[in-house]
Amino acid sequence: MKETIIRSAIFTFADKLSGFNIIPRVKQLVDSEKLSNIDREELQLRKLKKLLIHSQKTVPYYRDLFKRLNIYPEKPDSLDILREIPILKKTQIKKCPEIFLSELFKNKQLFWGQTGGSTGQPLSYALDPNCRVQVRAGFYRAMTWVGWKPGDSIVSFWGRPIIKDFRSSVFDKLKSFVLNYTEIDAHILDEKSLYHYTNILKRKSPKIVIGYASTLNLLADFIQQNNVNLENDSIDGVFSTAEMLLDPMKSNIEKAFNTKVFNSYGASEIQAIADTCHNGNMHIHSERVILRNFENSLLVTDLDNYAMPLINYKLDDNGTIAKTNQCKCGRTLPVLENLVGRSNINILLPNGKIVHSEYFTHLLEQLDIFKKYRVNCFQIHQFEDYRISIKLNSLSDLNETDKLKMQKIIQRDFSNNIQIDFEKLEILNSSSKFKFITSDLV
Ligand SMILES: [Zn+2]
Repeated sequence: MKETIIRSAIFTFADKLSGFNIIPRVKQLVDSEKLSNIDREELQLRKLKKLLIHSQKTVPYYRDLFKRLNIYPEKPDSLDILREIPILKKTQIKKCPEIFLSELFKNKQLFWGQTGGSTGQPLSYALDPNCRVQVRAGFYRAMTWVGWKPGDSIVSFWGRPIIKDFRSSVFDKLKSFVLNYTEIDAHILDEKSLYHYTNILKRKSPKIVIGYASTLNLLADFIQQNNVNLENDSIDGVFSTAEMLLDPMKSNIEKAFNTKVFNSYGASEIQAIADTCHNGNMHIHSERVILRNFENSLLVTDLDNYAMPLINYKLDDNGTIAKTNQCKCGRTLPVLENLVGRSNINILLPNGKIVHSEYFTHLLEQLDIFKKYRVNCFQIHQFEDYRISIKLNSLSDLNETDKLKMQKIIQRDFSNNIQIDFEKLEILNSSSKFKFITSDLV
């Protein structure tokens, strides 16, 4: 009890000191999740108008587009204005990213990220500081649905930096202490690390556990096969993110962790899109995003990102917006149904290690390979003899120094002299279903 109070005080103090003010933002989101449809649309329209005006004034792509289509951002009186704005595809941004950036921000103010995993088509995107805080607030709001309060312990299994530097390690430790948020690297797992991670779960007694669906599933297998007793009933919910949560995985994780699993949906470039409530409905964070259907595709508008406004942006996943937003939980946030997203394939090593597919995306990103070689598309394949081929479709070929550097890091992390080949990836027929990771072993 005493620790809970201290933790909450540290979180609140740090939140105020940092100027992020996450707690009031979470409160504001919680207050607005039961708005009437009319009030919600009014709130969305207000935010949309502001974003459209900003985009017209400061983003070259929208300045030209609105002029060409005679769109007047200050005019719309309904969200139907979105029907007049053409769908934005990832390929358009990849072709000429500069025109999608707002001239209002300096490069150093922005957070740069990279998509890649599910489609193999890396895209650099930018988020402004306010958007990052709003994303965080959306994320914490969803956790309040299962009982999280500021300062409660969270353990997350995620891809941590492969190339580490001293400054970020110190910052991570500080963040982990202040927010009571423990981040564990889930790139490479084996019996030893899984054993170690279950001990962390026992020690930290988290309220919330977060991770890739496939990683949580592996942990669940380990817990059950080794009769691990987590020795506490502290976990209020497990949040599965970034990958398709298949039903058998969900039941497996629920059984092992003895708690409910909640599916969380977002993309790298547009985060915190929707989260599941106790009734299994996936509520859209509609104060943050407008999600629409175009046929079976999902179009999203991020109402908070002013650095690189994405309006009517086509997501890689499919789903439908439910006709009614009535849910027994009382929240009136619209519901996303029939979500079909990405699944993960792991790379297996002869020494028993299991490598998450995102390891490769993160390695290429952290070595700046995507930007340096203008990588258009990439694919990983594992052969039956464990050999791995990294195929890149890029403007120029990888030089020998970078190949050697990658091989060295991979062999260090895999603790194995596994053969790594680099190949050229031929441009694919865009209509064919592309898999960014394939394996002859699974
Ligand atoms: Zn609900």
